[in-house]
Amino acid sequence: MSFSTLGLAPPLLNAVTEIGYQEPTAIQRAAIPAILRGEDVLGAAQTGSGKTAAFALPLLQSLLEKRKWPRKLHGLVLVPTRELAAQVGEAIGKLASHLNEPVKVSVVFGGVSINPQMLALRGSADIVVATPGRLLDLIDHNALNVAHTHTLVLDEADRLLDMGFSEELNRVLELLPKQRQNLFFSATFPPAVQALADRLLHQPSRIEVLAEPESKPDIRQRAISVDVPRRTMLLKHLILEHKWSGVMVFVATKYASDHVAEKLNRNGIRAASFHGELSQGARTDALADFKAGRLQVLVATDVAARGIDVARLPAVVNYDLPRSAVDYTHRIGRTGRAGLSGVAISFITAESEPHFRLIEKRQGERVPREIVAGFEPTEVEAPSNGVTDTVNGGIKGKRKSKKDKLREAAAAANAGGK
Ligand code: AMP
Repeated sequence: MSFSTLGLAPPLLNAVTEIGYQEPTAIQRAAIPAILRGEDVLGAAQTGSGKTAAFALPLLQSLLEKRKWPRKLHGLVLVPTRELAAQVGEAIGKLASHLNEPVKVSVVFGGVSINPQMLALRGSADIVVATPGRLLDLIDHNALNVAHTHTLVLDEADRLLDMGFSEELNRVLELLPKQRQNLFFSATFPPAVQALADRLLHQPSRIEVLAEPESKPDIRQRAISVDVPRRTMLLKHLILEHKWSGVMVFVATKYASDHVAEKLNRNGIRAASFHGELSQGARTDALADFKAGRLQVLVATDVAARGIDVARLPAVVNYDLPRSAVDYTHRIGRTGRAGLSGVAISFITAESEPHFRLIEKRQGERVPREIVAGFEPTEVEAPSNGVTDTVNGGIKGKRKSKKDKLREAAAAANAGGK
């Protein structure tokens, strides 16, 4: 199937051709015609599915058809993070830049000075991509009027709620016109997200692309058992062995992020740390260097890494395991995008083994444990006390195995003999 059958206007088809998209992805095939018909859309789509172009192309088309002068905000795209805002803005800007008519796309997010954003919004914009907090600040400063918005897009709605934006969302919704088109995208649908969708959407077209095998990203999952103190050297070993052009390494804390990046650099591997406490400038630079291939490794925490799209990322490493199975899916989804294959490697320590078993259970897929020569684990899994697990919190009701009891008895006997 080609883009030309979806009902897009010739200038947009030219834009798609110039960018080099050969054929629409599953979500694009389903969403574009529905959005062009003016319907609300509920899209269950993972990152990497091509959802940005799925809403951006019809959004640009309705803009070109309905544009009013003086300029009024036509499309408002709400996203959870600065990085995603920049990325979505860039993607829309790229599609729009191939059109004959100029389209003004503004990206606004917090953590940087508001003044340049206020200046950029002078005379309004055609499309604004925003994080909710900064959007409200700008509205409060009379820098933007959203009362005539034609289309609202919520991108990564589950993340928006996860990050505590529900109050801000409600305020924005109150300021929008009642009559509008709503496009709602989310990777997961826990009850709060479903409730928001139910409240927002009017007889939506439901589009689910998660289950389609052709859109399933090609990600090979691996799990390597290793002792905690050996992880950085194992990481170095894997980087040298596989010669990945780029690898994103996930850690649990800002401290670990700095520490691992520093140690890799000391070992001659170009790496940068990427977490929420760095300045926006440092984050932008690190991401740009990583995308351009000047850095081989980005060591990131979950919050900082949310929504980042790096084209052709061949590998992801879970140096520390994520807290939840949902985060695991998000992390490994950084690789294997847009039809390319990728590998996601998790380091499993004696301590995190039970937590990984839980993640495997949730995702319904078991990943065989591997041992790398020279990095054989020596630590043993702590016997469970049947109430909680380790640092990762909360596996309830796991009973002691016979082996655990024997191990405990042996340990007690040893302690007694000293
Ligand atoms: P998204 O899910 O919107 O973040 O898109 C993931 C990646 O797929 C981005 O790098 C897009 O540029 C790319 N992409 C989107 N649509 C297509 C398409 N039809 N063909 C090839 N690549 C695409």
